[in-house]
Amino acid sequence: MALADYHLHTPLCKHAEGHPSQYAAAALQAGLAEIGMSDHSPMRSHFDDWRMDWEEFPKYLDLVDEARAATPQLPIRLGLEVDYLEGGEAWVEELAKQAPFDYFIGSVHYISREWAVDDPKYVFRFTEGSLEDIWRDYWRLYEKAIRSELFDFFAHPDLPKKFGHRPAGDLRRYYEPAIQALVDTGKAFEVSTAGLRKEVHEIYPAREFLELTYSAGVPIVISSDSHHPSEVGQDFDQAIQLVKAVGYTATARFEKRERRLVALD
Ligand code: ZN
Ligand code: FE
Ligand code: FE
Ligand code: ZN
Repeated sequence: MALADYHLHTPLCKHAEGHPSQYAAAALQAGLAEIGMSDHSPMRSHFDDWRMDWEEFPKYLDLVDEARAATPQLPIRLGLEVDYLEGGEAWVEELAKQAPFDYFIGSVHYISREWAVDDPKYVFRFTEGSLEDIWRDYWRLYEKAIRSELFDFFAHPDLPKKFGHRPAGDLRRYYEPAIQALVDTGKAFEVSTAGLRKEVHEIYPAREFLELTYSAGVPIVISSDSHHPSEVGQDFDQAIQLVKAVGYTATARFEKRERRLVALD
């Protein structure tokens, strides 16, 4: 399989299991050509309970080096899944200088300082609040994250559908400004199989999003967002089927923040 899996976590985020060398072994088993570690980014000071603290960042680099030493036959890239927060741009720039990163994944989880849309603790907000408001806030930030040009590709595009809630009708009006931002900045995004493991039981993003990005020439990666070695490359057959059905024939690879395209077998 000529595929990479660039969205893999480590136990430093306190909600994932397995040493990166175990993720690497699982990737070889799954026939992947390449992986990248992309744990949740540290913030300058303590922020929440699902990421490494800044003091643990050297440990993260060590874990990646240990996996590279254990599995020399598999290229292991260094990435981070970086939260986009309005006003947090300078910290992302500073983070980028801290190590020889291969890529940054830009993620919108927080749609306000106190609410990460994928946090099961706050799932009640989807039934108590307005879904239209949630989608508007989320996609406004997603577009802003893309336009910041601080990231190489963007995570789980329609994440707010995670628990199975979404506004009625055609949602392309939310997707279009974000896709225009991808076109304007020349950035890529991920097709994530993680949604298949969540209440929504769907790949992120929706097929309609992929149809628009394919016509607009926006590149993709396919990722698992693994929080356990057993999830590496999971359901990639379904993702390939979907992206090929809308027309895609290649996925992106990253090295030292440079992108190239590799044909899908
Ligand atoms: Zn996570
Ligand atoms: Fe995420
Ligand atoms: Fe993730
Ligand atoms: Zn993620």
